[in-house]
Amino acid sequence: MFWNEKIECMPQEELKKLQYDELKTLIEKLYNNNQFYHDRMEAKGVKPEDIKCLEDISKLPFMFKQDLRDYYPTKLFTVPNNQVVRYHVSSGTTGKPTLVGYTEGDIGYWSEALARSLTSAGIGPDDVLQVCYGYGLFTGGLGLHYGGEKVGATVLPASTGNSERQIELMMDLGVTAIACTPSYFIHLMGVAKKMGVDFRKDTKLRVAILGAEPWSESMKKKIEDETGVEAFDIYGTSEQAGPMFSDCPCHNGIHIAADIMYVEVIDPETEEILPPGEKGELVVTMLQKEAFPLVRYRIKDMTRILTDPCPCGRTSPRIERITGRSDDMLIVRGINVFPSQIEYTLMQIPEVGDQYMIYVTREGALDNMKIQVELKPEAFSDNMENMLKLRSRIESALKKYLNIAVVVELKEPGELPRFEGKAKRVIDNRVI
Ligand SMILES: [Zn+2]
Repeated sequence: MFWNEKIECMPQEELKKLQYDELKTLIEKLYNNNQFYHDRMEAKGVKPEDIKCLEDISKLPFMFKQDLRDYYPTKLFTVPNNQVVRYHVSSGTTGKPTLVGYTEGDIGYWSEALARSLTSAGIGPDDVLQVCYGYGLFTGGLGLHYGGEKVGATVLPASTGNSERQIELMMDLGVTAIACTPSYFIHLMGVAKKMGVDFRKDTKLRVAILGAEPWSESMKKKIEDETGVEAFDIYGTSEQAGPMFSDCPCHNGIHIAADIMYVEVIDPETEEILPPGEKGELVVTMLQKEAFPLVRYRIKDMTRILTDPCPCGRTSPRIERITGRSDDMLIVRGINVFPSQIEYTLMQIPEVGDQYMIYVTREGALDNMKIQVELKPEAFSDNMENMLKLRSRIESALKKYLNIAVVVELKEPGELPRFEGKAKRVIDNRVI
């Protein structure tokens, strides 16, 4: 099912031409009307007329998160204030918050992208969509809300929290689709279990649109096996607008609406553009953004571009599931460790439950990594010998995958903190 078949299935050459036309218009506007872009392009010795084809985008300078902070709050905006219809503010987990402004047109392309994603997940007028992303400064709630209404679904703006009530509403209103973070969905699974509610028997829930934090393929499998829902992976950060792009029913990568966002993957060290299939840092250019444009923005998410044709018929490029941010990468004893690798390894072990916490400390010059792992109720026992055996099995699995020794601490079911918003599973206590 398509929302906008003409664009979603447009032949490659036509799509490239459309992207080039959009890029050219955007760059001319920015060079002539905005001091920041004008100065950056001058410093790199590039003018709008140098952009003769889509690939010439590589001549343009990069933009960084730091630029968004340095020009806070509105110096990067390119429309008069009276055209700005909304602000969102990023959570600022890695520093000062960043402000994003939207024109009516910006809300329009954002909702359009979501309408395409929700339609590809089979959500339409007959569905009841429970949005349990936070409503407020965070983009998730209002983003999915507008997208849901655009495809004609009945939207339940549940936001986060009050989880028992969420489950009750899900049953009472015949909710068929839910949108939230994967960690909140797992939290809801736990709450439902305690209430004696079986997602399969007691609800009509069919689809879960999960995102806003990295999650692994094995966590997806676990969610699907335990609840019977089909989980889709949605991607988009507040700088881009909010959550926007998702995988299709073929589940082989996130389709990026090519008329809305141009994607490149670069080697974060050498800044060279990598060919499709190679993993690196995602760089995005928003082709239709009005209030707060982004050109070659280093978003710090690690992924690869997939260009082999998708059986669903969409011609847009896809990106592989985001496995971490280059910012999130931990360097432990000189080895790069992504929390997503740890999650992936843990989820392969049948006795392990849904919750874990990662602690990194430094004693003298030596980094230590400790991982607290919650066990499933049926796996936890008072038999010390069995518990020690299980612990060393988990430690070996992690050592094999991460190439560093890790100390594992087993926890009883329910002992670790639950997250109602974005999960914070890494505590890095090193003073560097
Ligand atoms: Zn597809």
